[in-house]
Amino acid sequence: MDLTDLYQEVILDHGKNPRNRREMPDHTHVAEGYNPMCGDQIKVWLKVRADVVEDASFSGQGCAISQASASMMTQAILGKDVAAASELFDVFRWSVTDGGQFEECDHDAEVRHEATEMDERLGELNSLVGVKKYPNRIKCATLAWHAMHSALEEKAKVTTE
Ligand code: ZN
Repeated sequence: MDLTDLYQEVILDHGKNPRNRREMPDHTHVAEGYNPMCGDQIKVWLKVRADVVEDASFSGQGCAISQASASMMTQAILGKDVAAASELFDVFRWSVTDGGQFEECDHDAEVRHEATEMDERLGELNSLVGVKKYPNRIKCATLAWHAMHSALEEKAKVTTE
């Protein structure tokens, strides 16, 4: 089994058995994301105390990639402080767009180097990095992350448009 198959397995597993898929009535932060390209709808629920993400969950519906990404995202940010969760959002977004949202500049090589080092921290989230080959699926993979980021910034709604 090569790495691509393994990553496929991870996505399928999270798609079929999503982790932390539940509403959270006692949340401190919540935001909804909508991806009109695919019809994915994801609501991200967070409980933040003393600057730490104590609980993270999601609800909603959509394609396997959007669900798997939301599932992995909630696991990835659990127990992290808010700054670390935001940083992971940047690393993940960078990785799935291949740095597409960063402007080319003199520091490009440096940024790339840092991001490559940080890739290891993505762990099984690396399974989603392959979507960068399919531009119309990138929004599926990043939707839950944008919602998480909006929730932390206390913006209730986000769309990938
Ligand atoms: Zn989708």
